[in-house]
Amino acid sequence: MAPTRRDFLVTSAGAALAAALAGPLAAFAQPPQPPPAAPTFTPVRRNVGTFTMRGGTVGWLVSPRGVVVVDTQFPAEARALLEGLQARSGNRGVDLLVNTHHHGDHSGGNGVFRGVARKVVAHGMADQHMRRAPGAPAQPPAAQPPAATPGAPEMLYPDTTFQHTWAGDVGDERVVARHYGRGHTSGDAVITFERANVVHMGDLLSFRRHPVVDRAAGASMRNWARLLQEVANAHARDTVYICGHANTGLPVTVAQADVLQFRDYLLAVLALAERQVAAGRPREEALAMREPMPGFEAWGAFPAANARDPLTAAYEEVAAGA
Ligand SMILES: [Zn+2]
Repeated sequence: MAPTRRDFLVTSAGAALAAALAGPLAAFAQPPQPPPAAPTFTPVRRNVGTFTMRGGTVGWLVSPRGVVVVDTQFPAEARALLEGLQARSGNRGVDLLVNTHHHGDHSGGNGVFRGVARKVVAHGMADQHMRRAPGAPAQPPAAQPPAATPGAPEMLYPDTTFQHTWAGDVGDERVVARHYGRGHTSGDAVITFERANVVHMGDLLSFRRHPVVDRAAGASMRNWARLLQEVANAHARDTVYICGHANTGLPVTVAQADVLQFRDYLLAVLALAERQVAAGRPREEALAMREPMPGFEAWGAFPAANARDPLTAAYEEVAAGA
């Protein structure tokens, strides 16, 4: 798929900066900082689209009879999101806010929707995780929000939770939130816009990018791989999937084949961990691997071992016999 406009803008600005820095001083200059991301609304299909700025991809529905938002990024980004939604909907407010999970780059902007969103839905475990660590960023450093600033909105928690499935009608669209068991966390929801045939996967889908695996919040890579097949089976062949994150320059909307490729990636990381554990390789040595796995070069090098990188998570999951 074509790069998004945001990627184009970022690339163009980066090129301009690089050109400006070319010259004798360039050797001493710090690498140019990327410019602040611009709020970008991208229609996908039948009143449903994506919003990208900073943090996890937001999904939205704007129709003459209803507005839905899936995830909220961070407060500043949520304000740009809300402004754009109001402009597109004639200030009709937000009928439904759904969080795919609790991480700060997906729910950190919820407070901006206080008094605006008429209903807030999330899985019961996502709700618990949000309340356990209010305002605590649960993302790697690159995705962390800035320190809380005075005047930051108070967190808006779900008023409606579910364990397996929640469904509601908004205008002429049916929105279904379904939990497929442990994956990226223990409280992930897959949000389906049934008539548009568009699915928001939250961080259960990371397009050709190493995912965060939040074992402290109940993640399971084994079940994650299984559920991706179940999600694909539960939807049409031409369903459009919105990814929580994508690697640099890649689109945030993908097809069924990409969902199954990500399943294969998770299984490959687990198989790698199984070989290392079976060979009795020490943990430090097993986790020192950086080079991409054969067949998954597009993912790039593995991140350095941390509490939530996929190699560490797979090694611990296999070693624990889970
Ligand atoms: Zn996440």
